[in-house]
Amino acid sequence: MILIFPGSFDPVTNGHIDIALRCAKFADKIIFAIFEHPVKKSIFSVKERLRLIEDALRETDLGDTIVEFDSFEGLLAEYVKQSNATAILRGLRSPADFQAELPYSIHNKALSGGVDTIYLASNPDLSHISSSIVKEIASHAFATKFGEEALKELVPQNVFEALRRRYSKLNS
Ligand code: ADP
Repeated sequence: MILIFPGSFDPVTNGHIDIALRCAKFADKIIFAIFEHPVKKSIFSVKERLRLIEDALRETDLGDTIVEFDSFEGLLAEYVKQSNATAILRGLRSPADFQAELPYSIHNKALSGGVDTIYLASNPDLSHISSSIVKEIASHAFATKFGEEALKELVPQNVFEALRRRYSKLNS
C-alpha cells in the first residue's frame, strides 16, 4: 500500500509524525508531499520543510516502510493521479477537520479517477497540536522564554531548534 500524505507541514509537528508512525504499521510506502501554496506565506521553504521531516523521521522506527519526500503545485488530485498511490492519507483532529475534509475526499476521488482518502484519527494526546499554534507560540517563546518548555512537547527536537534559529533571526 502506497500512501500520499499531503500537507503544508510548516513545520512538521509531533501530530504529523504520530500519523506517519501509525501508518507505517500497515503501509509499504508513505510519500510526504508538500503543497506549494502560490499565495500563503510559509515560515520555512519547501526544501527546509522536507528536510525537517526527513531529519525528524530519522529518530523514529518506521520498520520496513519506505518514506519519500516530494512537493507539488496545483491540484492534489492531479498529483495523485500521476502517481501510483493506493490512497491519500489525512489526519483528523476534530469534527471540524472531518467537516472540512469530506468534500475534498469526494472531489479528489472523482478527479483522480478513484483514489480514496484514508483518515486516521489523531492521537488524543496530540490532537491540540497544529503548525499554526506552534508558530504562534514560537514567535514569542524564544524572545520572552515564556512557552519554550511547552513548545518542546509539540514538535521534534530538530524542529524546535530550527524554530529557535528562525525566530531569533526574525525577532532581532
Ligand atoms: P494542511 O494545511 O493541508 O491541513 P497540515 O500540515 O496542517 O496541512 O496537516 C497535514 C495533515 O496532517 C492534515 O490531514 C492534518 O489534519 C493532519 N494533522 C495536522 N496536525 C495533526 C495532529 N496534531 N494530529 C493528527 N493529524 C494532524
